[in-house]
Amino acid sequence: MDPTRAIWIKDPLGILADGAERGIVVQNGRIVELVPKGGQPSISAVFFEAGDHVVLPGLINTHHHFYQTLTRALPAALDRELFPWLQALYPVWARLTPDALNLGVTVAMSELLLSGCTTTTDHHYVFPAGLEDAVGIEVAAAKRLGIRVLLTRGSMNRSQRDGGLPPDSVVQDEDTILADSARVVAKHHQRGADAMVQIALAPCSPFSVTTSLMRATADLADKLDVRLHTHLAETEDENTFCEQMHGCRPLDYLEQCGWLNARTWLAHGIFFNSEEMKRLGKARTAISHCACSNQLLASGCCPVCEMEEAGVAIGLGVDGSASNDGSNLMQEVRAAFLLQRARYGVGRISHKDALRWATKGSAACVGRPELGEIAVGKAADLALFKLDELRFSGHGDPLAALVLCGAHRADRVMVGGNWVVMDGAIPGLDVPDLIRRHSAAAHAMQVG
Ligand SMILES: [Zn+2]
Repeated sequence: MDPTRAIWIKDPLGILADGAERGIVVQNGRIVELVPKGGQPSISAVFFEAGDHVVLPGLINTHHHFYQTLTRALPAALDRELFPWLQALYPVWARLTPDALNLGVTVAMSELLLSGCTTTTDHHYVFPAGLEDAVGIEVAAAKRLGIRVLLTRGSMNRSQRDGGLPPDSVVQDEDTILADSARVVAKHHQRGADAMVQIALAPCSPFSVTTSLMRATADLADKLDVRLHTHLAETEDENTFCEQMHGCRPLDYLEQCGWLNARTWLAHGIFFNSEEMKRLGKARTAISHCACSNQLLASGCCPVCEMEEAGVAIGLGVDGSASNDGSNLMQEVRAAFLLQRARYGVGRISHKDALRWATKGSAACVGRPELGEIAVGKAADLALFKLDELRFSGHGDPLAALVLCGAHRADRVMVGGNWVVMDGAIPGLDVPDLIRRHSAAAHAMQVG
């Protein structure tokens, strides 16, 4: 497709933007014009007839562990809370191979694209012997599929030997982690508003790495000017663990390690008190809300309204596919909407809030203000949904129908001006073959 050729996404059934009733024009990977009611594009453009489509900014997934698609609904991990759940899964994850990771990543990214996701993060922190280039495998898959990514070089260096949860075979030492972090940033991290591949640094959680590594990672992220990510305040257990190990609450520890700043976004953020939320807002640290995972593991419910009132940006994350157990971001929007509406009531939470978290809020989490919004100058990252399934029949408001009737599959997805999903499929992807090979790899890992 010639990127200089302007495309008019014409007369959509619905669109998440004001003043774009007749659609939008994209060119050179950007949105160049919003066409208001009764208007016409000011430049010559071919058109894509969108009369059957509801147009959203591409959804942004702010927390995931792609490799976990290989351990979905695993019997040994069912009906467990976070810590015993992790202990059941670590030995299985220790058997991850490069081929299995490639399949797991391809499945996760494909599921995400087909659900309307145009930018995704991944938090990869399991590095058994032979899997040293996990990030390289993920970059290659992202380039094949055309999805925009912020991949994190995760880490763990506190194993059972040192009072941590993971087995010795999946952790690395501090020097190896820091050297490889610098390597993957130098090799893969792109800068600027059109970046398709970015890298962040991400110790798994403050409780699976040493204080020395937490501090050194923050220093390195500062030096390399990349973002920082970790899990925090996911369970009550964590507070107890932190009090015992460090004599303070998790956020105090994070601050002591040099992490409480605008470079950082945190997965979960359930157990912060009001004073801590104010500190997060002041520091401009963002939160990835993972509604499905939090419900499946019965971890709790992120206080999104108090967070936003304190100035904290809220994004959405599907979290790993062993605690979801899917990678469907549109379904995550619905899950977050329902969970938070049950908590706060109809007056405070609407479908538009959930869509805002998955777009503008998520863009803040990944530090990409040029994403997550349909406005002139923003990236041409779009998700188009048809309302032609039984579940939508008889609908009124098209945008509300997406969330309330349970949209789960995009018909068209555009990333940087390129169509990467057409007619509900990823061009060139043999889905039955992928399922066959991914299932075989998952089975081999699970039986050992
Ligand atoms: Zn996670």
